[in-house]
Amino acid sequence: MSGVESDLYEVLGISNSAPKDEVRKAYRKAALANHPDKVPEAEREEAEVRFKAVQEAYDILYDDDKRHLYDTHGMSAFNGSGEPGMGAGPDLDDILAQMFGMGGMGGGMPGMGGMPGGSRPNKPRRSPNEEQKYEVKMEDLYKGKTVKFASTKNVICSLCQGKGGKEKAQAKTCATCGGQGVKQVLNQMGQFLTTQTVACSTCNGEGQFFSPKDKCKKCKGKKTTEERKILEIYIPRGAKEGDKIILEGEADQVPGQEPGDIVFHIVEEEHPTFRRAGADLTATIDVTLAEALTGFSRVVVKHLDGRGIELQHPKKAGDVLSPGQVLKVPGEGMPIKRSEDRGDLYLVVDIKFPDENWKPSAAVLERLKEMLPKPDPLIQTDTVDEVDYDPNGDLDDFGAKDPSGTSAWEDDDDEGEPAQCATQ
Ligand SMILES: [Zn+2]
Ligand SMILES: [Zn+2]
Repeated sequence: MSGVESDLYEVLGISNSAPKDEVRKAYRKAALANHPDKVPEAEREEAEVRFKAVQEAYDILYDDDKRHLYDTHGMSAFNGSGEPGMGAGPDLDDILAQMFGMGGMGGGMPGMGGMPGGSRPNKPRRSPNEEQKYEVKMEDLYKGKTVKFASTKNVICSLCQGKGGKEKAQAKTCATCGGQGVKQVLNQMGQFLTTQTVACSTCNGEGQFFSPKDKCKKCKGKKTTEERKILEIYIPRGAKEGDKIILEGEADQVPGQEPGDIVFHIVEEEHPTFRRAGADLTATIDVTLAEALTGFSRVVVKHLDGRGIELQHPKKAGDVLSPGQVLKVPGEGMPIKRSEDRGDLYLVVDIKFPDENWKPSAAVLERLKEMLPKPDPLIQTDTVDEVDYDPNGDLDDFGAKDPSGTSAWEDDDDEGEPAQCATQ
């Protein structure tokens, strides 16, 4: 894909010794900054390339095995051609299958304890799938969306048909690996030294190569050339996090192999208003104290397709809304894929009590008191202490002074149990 080899650690802006959580943090930051949907049209193409590079750096560096392979062998460990470039979504199994599949190396490979030799002997070889995360707005998951983007991929060279050399030229057997295309290297795995089989870097794992004068003029012996193509993916309405969208055979072409797929993994972007669970949605609606008591008829939330959702309150004269009350709206959740059904919408009532700007007169307060329900009977006790209090207490402080260090919150698990019927 991209013609420039860059250091994966540099792509994420981290040091070679960065721990996993740092890899993840750096990835999130870089992915967000380079997201193609978040830059002006003119910079989109460039952002796509960077976004992809960030994605692939993360895929390798966040996986312990792949990171080790990268640290020891660089990017050449991730595509059989040894061609620098970040295109091939690396799959360790595919890499191993490619290494073991070539040059008639049957039987157990030395140094690969636990890998049954020739584990996939007759599987038709495919170039690796290209796996990508794709972040989608909740609005687009609700309505469905077609996305077009430009992609550069390696295709078999049209001049030499993937041979890499001129028509009558003969390839030379590689002396470094004796034509095997692979070689053994010593490798430190933790405290153990092991031998590992890797693709030969002299011949790029081919076992043979053309001398400079015999190389194909078009692809310069690489067997593939880059091609730009407009790809289109359709995100179906109701799609959700983890869904895959597959573009069959659109991954980089590798001579002698079926092309793999480009696989998009949908990641749901957080929404400022709605949260989703399966096909259901929930949102908080703000209602003033006056509205909660006396009623209203208005739009309480703007839905994902832009419609206003209007409520009439009360449904029955005299009903009031309480803080935290849940209003369930059937059929206003997310669409369900391949069906006309929808989930439900759960609206949680948040009542806005008057703030310090409300300055009622004593007479108004007196009338309110008369109109609203009366308090419960007084609590009867033998002695009474009038106490002072801080009106802005914080429950985060609750239990914080406990010398044993555990917050009282964590000990409170008795609360859900049925009350004991002790003899009163
Ligand atoms: Zn060629
Ligand atoms: Zn070689």
